[in-house]
Amino acid sequence: MKDLLIVGSGPAGISAALTAAARGLDFLWFGSRALSPKIAQAPEIANYPGLCRVQGRDFQKILQDQIDAMGLSLREERIDFLYAMGSHFTACVNETMYDARAVILAVGVSTAGAVPGELDYIGQGVSYCATCDGALYRGKTIAIVSTNPEFEEEVEFLLRLAGKAYVSRSYPAPDVPNAEGMADFPKGIRRENGKLQIAYADGERTVDGIFFLKDSVSPAVLMPGLAMDGAHIAVNRDLETNLPGCFAAGDCTGRPYQYAKAVGEGNVAVHTALRWLKENQ
Ligand code: FAD
Repeated sequence: MKDLLIVGSGPAGISAALTAAARGLDFLWFGSRALSPKIAQAPEIANYPGLCRVQGRDFQKILQDQIDAMGLSLREERIDFLYAMGSHFTACVNETMYDARAVILAVGVSTAGAVPGELDYIGQGVSYCATCDGALYRGKTIAIVSTNPEFEEEVEFLLRLAGKAYVSRSYPAPDVPNAEGMADFPKGIRRENGKLQIAYADGERTVDGIFFLKDSVSPAVLMPGLAMDGAHIAVNRDLETNLPGCFAAGDCTGRPYQYAKAVGEGNVAVHTALRWLKENQ
């Protein structure tokens, strides 16, 4: 059993990992070696102390070097679900489970937002996890929405299983015989006669299931029971959520969406977690 799980490798997660390591916590850190698309894509950063007009790609490299120099271990895995078990938390990654006494969610905020109807059909045709749910759609018709080339392996996995797939990608990729590349992203989802209808600009398609592969799903989907305040995780000033032992930091707790705020909250969340771990031994 670990002390802590940190989910997310953007500025908030990096700050949390650096602080957790400095304080000697036994923790697991999940994210991507690319860190966060919101770091690499920044054209020029001028409002972060110590950086003067630095391009996002250069900031990414500085952070990667710092992670390596500090010997931090980043697990390149996406957490599918997190469960509050009462005495501890369990994170699920495909078929592997990780347990820890406390959790820091630094998962960012999805700027794409949910498609109308998406949240109404979670678990009833809408899925965020190809590995978890792909087998349910063997030979069936599905829609896939992928917002990052990092998900291409999951897209290919789904295309091997599906009979037919409508695929919306935010990046170029070759189609395969059973896949129809869509020119746009879905506009809405509804159910009719037990089947999902997914609307595109040129009309609706009937599908059995829809897979949204995106950098950040709603934290309430990731962690059942987590209280939200609109699109953000509800936290107090110490970054405690409604679930004892679960803390949140960065864009996922609300505006302003900025590096300085994310980094500060990553640090505060670890200090609150340290206090909580001590009080709940
Ligand atoms: P994010 O950076 O979004 O990181 C969240 C991380 O969590 C991601 O890596 C994601 O993949 C990971 N994650 C999510 N779910 C899971 C899961 N289930 N399992 C594992 N990992 C998961 N701010 C400024 O202050 N100055 C700027 O100049 C600036 N320029 C910007 C330019 C652009 C183009 C954009 C998009 C944003 C810019 N921002 C800027 C805002 C800034 O990027 C964000 O405020 C900041 O990145 C938030 O950090 P975060 O760690 O909270 O979230």
